Amino acid sequence: MNNASKITGATKIYGIIGYPVSHSLSPLMQNAALCAAEIDGVYLPFTVKPEHLSDAVSGLRALQVSGFNVTIPHKTSIIPFLDELAPTAVQAGAVNTVVNNNGRLAGHNTDGDGLVKSLKEDLQFDPKDSKVLLIGAGGAARGALAALCRAGVRSVTVCNRTLGAASSLVSDFKVNFPAIELQAVEKASFSSSSLGDLELIINATSLGMAGEKIEGLPLALLSDHARVYDMVYNPAITPLLFDAKELGLMAVNGIGMLVSQGELAFSLWHSIPPKNAVMRAALESSLV
Ligand code: NDP
Repeated sequence: MNNASKITGATKIYGIIGYPVSHSLSPLMQNAALCAAEIDGVYLPFTVKPEHLSDAVSGLRALQVSGFNVTIPHKTSIIPFLDELAPTAVQAGAVNTVVNNNGRLAGHNTDGDGLVKSLKEDLQFDPKDSKVLLIGAGGAARGALAALCRAGVRSVTVCNRTLGAASSLVSDFKVNFPAIELQAVEKASFSSSSLGDLELIINATSLGMAGEKIEGLPLALLSDHARVYDMVYNPAITPLLFDAKELGLMAVNGIGMLVSQGELAFSLWHSIPPKNAVMRAALESSLV
């Protein structure tokens, strides 16, 4: 699908900034949704190296780009260049969507709410009062933890290769969510007592994208009703998902989160939701 032949002088411009950005599926799904909604807009990929972030944001502002997504590695570093932050971005400490309100750039985070929507729709899992293991402490984990806390989770254990990053994530969130049990651990500390009553494991690391296993995670210690969510969506079945399914656990990849965060961003920019299932169909056709 290509909107280029329909571009006029009045066409609004949206896009995504990241480095690298060529792997992003957001242009595909956002342009499909723009076409389906008959909105006079186009969504473009912009490669922005970290050292050019400030210039890039100034340029997007000067060019009156109507809105853009933010991906690796800019989700946190973009914050000082924005004019305001929505509560979702403040809580997460990360921005994945920027709305240009008449020249004022407002940062939002739709990753976390996209995850919670996907947990409900794709895994039939409501985080309220649940006990969760979150693997990873980067930008995606921040958005996820904020949305899980808003959704009323009972306890979240954050596990990360770099324990210090998990500890600092937990201490940031303890301030805003004192009633929720939050702790940071090293993988070496997993045991039947720590894993046996978990209801959900979320992979928020990049492990699995190149077929890597998450070492030191004894899935066999989980109870039968535990569920597994892998934010990685390409490949569709990561080693984590394969192992979970072998054990008979309900397990899904991150395509639903990708779709939901994109749908929420679209709604912020255009004040209407995208046509039902258009974004998912565009993604699924590209991933077969
Ligand atoms: P970040 O770069 O911010 O964080 C990366 C995380 O992965 C860190 O916790 C890092 O640990 C960990 N990690 C990286 N390499 C390794 C490794 N070799 N061994 C162990 N841990 C490792 O990335 P994001 O948080 O933005 O993204 C994380 C993943 O989530 C990516 O796969 C991304 O594609 C996916 N994602 C999916 C979305 C969706 O819609 N489905 C949306 C957003 C992200 P450490 O702190 O030790 O470096």
